[in-house]
Formats: sequence, structure tokens, C-alpha cells
Amino acid sequence: MISDLFDDLEDVANQEDRHVNQDNTDVVAKMRQLIELLRQHSHAYYVMDAPSIDDGEYDQLFFSLKKLEEEYPALVQSDSPIARVGGQALGQFNSVVHQVPMLSLGNVFNHEDLQSFDQRVRDRLAGQKIQYELELKLDGLAVSLHYHDGKLVQAVTRGDGETGEDVTHNALTIRNLPLLLVDPLGKPTPRVLEVRGEVLIPKSGFAKLNREAEEKGLKTYVNPRNAAAGSLRQLDPAIAATRPLAFYAYSIAQSEPLHDNVTQSESLYWLKSLGFTVSERLEVVDSVEAVQAVYDQINAEREYLLVEIDGMVVKVDSLRQQQQLAFLSREPRWATAYKFPAKAALTTVEQIDWQVGRTGTLTPVARLNPVFVGGVTVSNVTLHNIGEIQRLDVRVGDTISVYRTGDVIPKVERVWPEFRPVSAQEVVLPSDCPVCESPVVMPEGEALARCTGGLFCPAQRIEAIRHFVSRKAMDIDGLGERWAEALLSQGLVQDVSYLYQLYTRRDELLTIEKMGEKSVQNLLEAIESSKKTTFSRFIFALGIRGVGENTSRNLAEQFQTLDALFAADLENLKMTADVGEISAQWIYSFLRDDHNKEVIERLIAAGVHWDATAKRTRQPLTGESWVLTGTLSRFTREQATMILQELGARVSGSISAKTKALVAGEKAGSKLAKAQELGVQTLTEDEFVAFVATHGVEL
Ligand code: NAD
Repeated sequence: MISDLFDDLEDVANQEDRHVNQDNTDVVAKMRQLIELLRQHSHAYYVMDAPSIDDGEYDQLFFSLKKLEEEYPALVQSDSPIARVGGQALGQFNSVVHQVPMLSLGNVFNHEDLQSFDQRVRDRLAGQKIQYELELKLDGLAVSLHYHDGKLVQAVTRGDGETGEDVTHNALTIRNLPLLLVDPLGKPTPRVLEVRGEVLIPKSGFAKLNREAEEKGLKTYVNPRNAAAGSLRQLDPAIAATRPLAFYAYSIAQSEPLHDNVTQSESLYWLKSLGFTVSERLEVVDSVEAVQAVYDQINAEREYLLVEIDGMVVKVDSLRQQQQLAFLSREPRWATAYKFPAKAALTTVEQIDWQVGRTGTLTPVARLNPVFVGGVTVSNVTLHNIGEIQRLDVRVGDTISVYRTGDVIPKVERVWPEFRPVSAQEVVLPSDCPVCESPVVMPEGEALARCTGGLFCPAQRIEAIRHFVSRKAMDIDGLGERWAEALLSQGLVQDVSYLYQLYTRRDELLTIEKMGEKSVQNLLEAIESSKKTTFSRFIFALGIRGVGENTSRNLAEQFQTLDALFAADLENLKMTADVGEISAQWIYSFLRDDHNKEVIERLIAAGVHWDATAKRTRQPLTGESWVLTGTLSRFTREQATMILQELGARVSGSISAKTKALVAGEKAGSKLAKAQELGVQTLTEDEFVAFVATHGVEL
């Protein structure tokens, strides 16, 4: 969904008679601002082949201008890009005027827009049966190929749609592009044939191209589209020849004599028979619902396609109906691009709240005007710390870019100072904790501010409990935020050790609102079974500052027993893998704090216990980085992680060229595709089990 960037203009629009009594300077100023921004970014994208913003952001700016123009048609600026087709000829190649203009495509971004497109088509073709042909929207560069008697004579880029650049010398180097057309049935090929399509770099070629560029210390390309455009516009065809370019045909612009295909799909099959590569997916459907179903499927499977796409193109299949529908300024009425959700989008910061964490750290969270990005609606985004706020220079009221892909946490990419309202407010670190009002401190040299309220601060107590019960810590299933809040507010729990006394207070637990017999029973059982744990989980559960899962495991291995850990001095602690000067200090003071000692003693007295930590002497995977993905059926990802770590491997969340191997369970997605692309070894669950067995680990 493209949200409107300029809601403040609604006020202008709502005034009584905007066409008569306004001089509309605000509207014109906004239009000018958008035109200038679009001009700058189009130049970077089309001319320099190096985009300066994400496509989603560009589209949002574009649609904001389009909306303004629809609302104020009298104010449309003569240099507006709305009715024009993108690029321009660079000047270093010969210009060629297209006999048939090369247009762009309209866009739809959701089902509702798609239905409106369908309705417009149906209105114009009243009563006719309509079929839609669906193709991949290839993310490359449009090129027109001219064949005379089946022989390629010229290749021209789209340029501004009217005039393009002659890139024949480079097109000749594209390996899958037929230089001579041969009809499989032996029929003569048309005397004149103009075929249009997209020049692109398939995913595998792109990864290789960037790897090579990196090795040579050259600049890498942002995306395959710009790599393809940059490659096709090389002056030296020897360079283009080294680039893994490919041509995908998607339409016939001219044919003399006329070809006898009557639909778009037939045309593509015919082109295929002549030697062209066409869209990997090509379907013909009868209804808008079927269009949606194919879109959803392609969106889910896009990672497995050979080429980068940014959506699906929906075309009226009948060429006769296409002629009937004709064109509307820069785009055909018979086709539209159904785009995938953008990875980046612009929105505004409504407010900034400070959240207090388990260890008292204050984290700023920006509350946003909800925005659809990366396939979900994002309303909150963390800003990490005051330093990040200062680095971004983000203020309440600012327009910002939010970036999100796949299941990655959304982040603020940057602020758009050009859209800053005069009322924007600077963000300051609060002097008092927003939860308990204790003073906030930010020690010299540290990035994080902290509440000094310690365990008196409810936020810290609740977070300490949440951490203690979490899956990777004591794993007390079912003890969520609601339970934790109720237990604290009713005084049933003062610190985590009280959890193990709750079985004596069953009656009081039953008085908690919405907690019935069953949930109390489940909670008590989960607490009971959490008593048997491991030493490393126990250390992790304590929530010592700077001690994450890895460090906990290293401490458990190093010290083996709680007594030894308590006895460790700073020097001993620093000998543990992962423990540096500062974290050694934090661990040391945590273990010397009387209150903490008491809590630990109470936990042990309540029956929390573990088997002795086995120390592995041989760690054959030391130095290797492994990644896990997909659903594993015989064990959890945490268990697999622990096994790998015990064998010495580092388990990482992302694939890179340095990854040793990927363990891919069911429904593995982008990581598997990336591993294959980078040639990283992949193991199925069974292969993994067999592999670890060779190192003496039975699963
Ligand atoms: P477009 O790329 O959205 O759609 C039109 C083009 O789609 C055609 O010219 C054709 O080349 C291509 N296409 C791919 N597959 C096709 C198929 N199967 N059938 C027919 N055509 C197919 O439109 P546009 O006007 O070229 O460019 C606008 C796009 O460029 C937007 O996505 C915009 O975000 C992006 N852009 C980005 C920036 C930036 O700064 N990031 C700047 C300018 C433009």
C-alpha cells in the first residue's frame, strides 16, 4: 500500500472551494519538491545505474505526486514525470527513434487495486469473455530487437520510450539471444520482426559478478537490474561479453507480414519456438481470483526462480481485445504490473517511547504512522539507543525510511530532512525512568542509558522473570507476560526464586483473573519440570549483564560447578572464551551481590539441579561457521545449535561465502537458495544426523 506522504495537504484540499480561492502555493511547492526528488533519483537509477533509494520509496514519492496531480489537475507542472517513461538516452550511443513507442506499465499493489484494474477492463470490453495471461515481471532493462529476414540487425534500449540507444554491439554478446531465427516448421520468418523483452542478469550470474568485483576491489552492484543496465551500456563489447546477460522476450511490437498468433500467450510460445527465452512462469486464467492465486504462489516461490522479479505482469490475453483497449499516456490499458510488497517505505514518526529492559537499559522505540513494508504493517521500530537517534538525527514528526525484508526486524534506514515539519521535536534522553521514576544514568563511554531503580523498578523485575522462564533459559512454558504481571502485582513473586514456592499458594493463584484450574495446574507442572536443567541454561537464566547463551555455555564448561564459578576471580573469568575485561567485571560483581547470592541459594534449595557439564576435549568443527534453517523434525534448532557448538562450530544466523555448511530442514527458504547460489554445502536433517554420528554424537 502506498501511503500518502502529505496528509497535511488534506487540510488544504478540504477547504471550501479550493479551485477558486486558493493560490495553492503549498500544493505547487510540494509538487516542485517531489518533481525535483524524482528527477534526482531517476537520474541515479536510469542514467547512472546506481539507485540512491529503494524502488518502494521511489514509488511512494511517485504516487504522492500522482495523487496531488489528480486532485489539482490545473496545477500539473509541465516537467512532471508522471506521464513520461523513465530513462533517457546517454548520448554516448547512437539514438534511435522507436517506430512503435516503448511504454511503461501501470502498477497495482494489492487485491483491491487489482479488482479495480479488472473492472476497468471489463467496463471497456462490456460483455466480452476475458482471459488474463500472467508472466513474471522481470527486473531488468527493456530492449527492442529488430530482425530482418530472421537476422538480428539492431538492438535498442527503451530510453524515454520515444528514443532509445543503439546497443547492438553489446546485444550480440548475449548468449541466449538468437542472432538468426529459425522456424521449427520450416516456415519463412517475417521480413520485419520487432521483438521486445528484458535484458537481465540471472541470480547466479549476479552473485558471481559481484564476487569477482569484490575480489578485484571494484564497486559491487546494488541489484541485478542495475548490473544488467550497466553491462548493456558498456562502450566496449568485450566487457559486455564477460557479463552473464540474458534476454527474455515478452512481446512482438511489429511483424511484416503479420504473424498469425491471436493471443499474447500464443505469441510467446511462437517466440519460444523461434529460439527466444520467455518467462519461466506463463499462465492463462479466467478470473481475478485466479490472478490473485497465481500471484500469491509466485510471491511465495520467487526465491527459487532463476531470475530476479519485482512482481507479475497481468495482460489481457486476446490481441484483438488489447487493440480495443489501447493505451493511456505512458501505459497500456490492457496490462498492469502486480508488484511485490516494497522492502522500504516512507512513513512518519508519531512518538518516541522509552522501554525499560531486564537489566534497566532504556531503549527508544519509535511509534510510526503504520506502513506496509516487506509484506507486513509496521507500527513500531526500535531506535536502539540515544546515539542512534543522534546519528540518524530523527525527530518526532519526521519522515523516515523503514526497511524490512523477509523475517528481518524492521529498521530505520534514514531520515528525510527535506520533509521535516517546523513542528518536529528533538528527542532527549529522559532524566527519570518512565516506569519507576528513578534517575536515569548513562556512564561515560557507554552507549546505553540505564534506570538506577534495580529490582525496585517493576519493568526490570518483570523482564528478569520473562528472561528467566524463556525457552533458552529455564524453559517454563506458559508463563507469559500476563502471568508475570499478575504474580508481581499480587506480591506472589518478589524474584525468580519465588516461582518454585508457588505450589504452596495454589489457592491464591486461583484468584487471579482469567487463570483457571487448568492453567494453574499447567503452570505448576511446567515450573516443576524446569527444575532439571543444565548448568549453562541456569547461568543464562540468571540474566547477568553481557552473558548470553554462548558465554553461559563457555562458563559452564570452564568452571563445571557453581562453587567453582563463585570462587573464580577476575583473572579466572577472563580465561573463559568470550569473556573480556568488561564482562568479567559484570559477572564478578553479579556473583558478589548479596541479593543475587540469596536468590541463587534459594533456587538450589528449591531443587533446581543439573547433571555435571561434560567437557568436550575434541572440537573437530572449531573455526567453522554453520547455519540452520527450516523445520527440523527430530530435534529443535536449539538442540542442533548446542550440538554444533559442542563440536566447536559457530552457529550463525546468515549465510555468507564463509559459511561451512547449511543444515536445511523442511520448508527451507531464502537461506537454502542463498547457500545454493554461493555453492555452500547443504545437509538435510538425515545427513546432519549421520554427520554428527561420525563425531560420536547420537541423535
Ligand atoms: P516498470 O519497470 O515498473 O514497468 C515497466 C517495465 O516492465 C517495462 O518497460 C518492461 O521493461 C518491464 N517488464 C518486465 N517484465 C515484463 C513483462 N513480462 N511484460 C512486459 N513488460 C515487462 O516501469 P518503469 O517505468 O520502467 O520504471 C519504474 C520502476 O523503476 C519502478 O519500479 C520504480 O520504483 C523504479 N525506479 C526506481 C528508482 C529508484 O531510485 N530506486 C528510480 C526510478 C525508477
